[in-house]
This record gives sequence, C-alpha cells and structure tokens, in this order.
Amino acid sequence: MELQEQRFLVTGASRGIGQAIAVDLAAHGAKVAGLATRLENLAATAQAVEAAGGVFLPLAGDIADPQTANAAVAAVIAEWGGVDGLVANAGITRDGLLIRMSAEDFASVLATNLGGAFHFLKAVTRPMMKARSGRVVLIGSVVACVGNPGKANYCAAKAGLHGLARSAALELGSRGITVNVVAPGFIETDMTSGLPEAAREAMTAKIALGRPGSPADVAGAVRFLAGPAGAYVTGQVLVVDGGLSLG
Ligand code: NAP
Repeated sequence: MELQEQRFLVTGASRGIGQAIAVDLAAHGAKVAGLATRLENLAATAQAVEAAGGVFLPLAGDIADPQTANAAVAAVIAEWGGVDGLVANAGITRDGLLIRMSAEDFASVLATNLGGAFHFLKAVTRPMMKARSGRVVLIGSVVACVGNPGKANYCAAKAGLHGLARSAALELGSRGITVNVVAPGFIETDMTSGLPEAAREAMTAKIALGRPGSPADVAGAVRFLAGPAGAYVTGQVLVVDGGLSLG
C-alpha cells in the first residue's frame, strides 16, 4: 500500500479522470477527499472508493471561487489533521474558433481551469509547508504543448499550468513539496463523448498506441508522481497521450 494513510484532495472527482484518480489513490491506501460542483454528483465515486477499501470525504463547490478551495482544504484538515496531496483535476471546455470566441468563454475557462488550480495550490501551500512535505499534481492537457483549433481558451489555461507548476516547484522544493503537471491526450470521458465518430477515428489514427486513453491510464501516472517512486520529480510536465503528440 504505497499511499497508506496519505490524505489526498482531488477536484473534479465525480466522474471521468478525477473519479479514476480518486479510486486509484484509495485502492493504494490513501484517504481521499473528492470535490465536484454538487455533493450528490459524488455518490458513485464514494461507492467506488469504499468498494476499493478506501475512505472518502465528499466536498462541493465551484473551483473558480477561492473560498471553495479554502473551505475544502479546511474540511480535509478538520477531518484528517492534514493534507498530504492535491490533484487539481476539475476542468471545463467552452470551445469555439477564436474569431467567434466570446470574452466570457475565454474568461470562464481561464478562471476555472487555471484560476481553480491556483486557488487549490495556494490553499494547500501553507499546511504543506508546515508539514515540510506534499505532492501536488495539476491535470493539464497535451493540447497546451501543441495547440488545438477551437480551443484557444482551453490551451491558454492549460499552458498556464506549466508556468504555475514550475514556479511553485521552485518556491516549494526546499519544503519537500513537489509540483508537477500530468498532461493527458485523448481520454474517453464525458468531456470527449460528444466528438463525432469521424473525428474520433481521425484522432485515434494519430495515436501511436492505436487507442484512446482511459481514465485509469491517467490515474497511474498521477499515482507515480504522488507516491514514493515520484519523490525526486518536480516542475515537470508528464505527457500521457499514447504518443498522440509525436506527430
Ligand atoms: P469530465 O468528465 O467533464 O469531468 C469534469 C469534472 O470536473 C467533474 O467532476 C465536474 O464536476 C468537475 N468540475 C467541472 N467544473 C467544475 C467547477 N467549476 N467546480 C468544481 N468542479 C468542477 O472531464 P474529464 O474528461 O474527466 O477531465 C478531467 C480533467 O482532465 C480536466 O481538467 C480536463 O481538462 C483534463 N483533460 C481531459 C482530457 C480528455 O480527453 N478527457 C484530455 C486532456 C485533459 P460535476 O460532475 O459536478 O460537474
């Protein structure tokens, strides 16, 4: 049990990648607090974590609001006495070509995908600094490295996570805290389920491993960075895309 007694907070834990991360961390011994927009959205994750033998603390709120992060971290500390790890996973898309993209759609994706990660990272910084240890994983996207038509807001926000992680890694390394980004490629979740079949096939054809990724593929990479094997890795972007970005 490589994560025995480690206390993790995972945002966007109700479904998709965040749910898989929560269940995987719990299956490897961690206590997991999971956040989504509404408590009732977390019922399936709570069940899955408990079925994996874990302990789950459900939390709700909008990650774009700094108070959500402060309250969530306070709740984890009140329940378990500290927080050892953060996985800032929750994210949204508001796709559209730049020429038609509204300032609201740009701002909301920045506020949620980049601002949300910042609020949670900031909220865990003080307790982790006091504990002189901590693991932070921000869930980015490979499109931040290569660009994607129709996703200028999303790519800008996810690319911002790289600078956030590197700067935080430099600031917090002396306190034993690592900060990294996991950048998934094309993963089958609600976020990608609306893609037309032809686009799905075209995307899959570009993946060296010949298949879309699963949420569990991403969870394994997160666990590496969150566990003992990742102890000496910080400020990095780990691409988990089956070779999609290789060209
Ligand atoms: P998803 O299935 O759409 O799930 C999104 C999760 O984020 C849900 O738990 C949702 O909670 C939560 N969430 C969204 N907005 C929130 C907010 N404002 N406050 C609190 N929680 C919020 O997405 P996914 O595909 O698993 O993606 C997870 C992460 O991986 C995202 O950051 C995404 O950008 C990234 N990613 C995904 C892919 C992919 O191919 N799927 C590729 C690269 C990167 P509710 O259930 O309450 O709405």
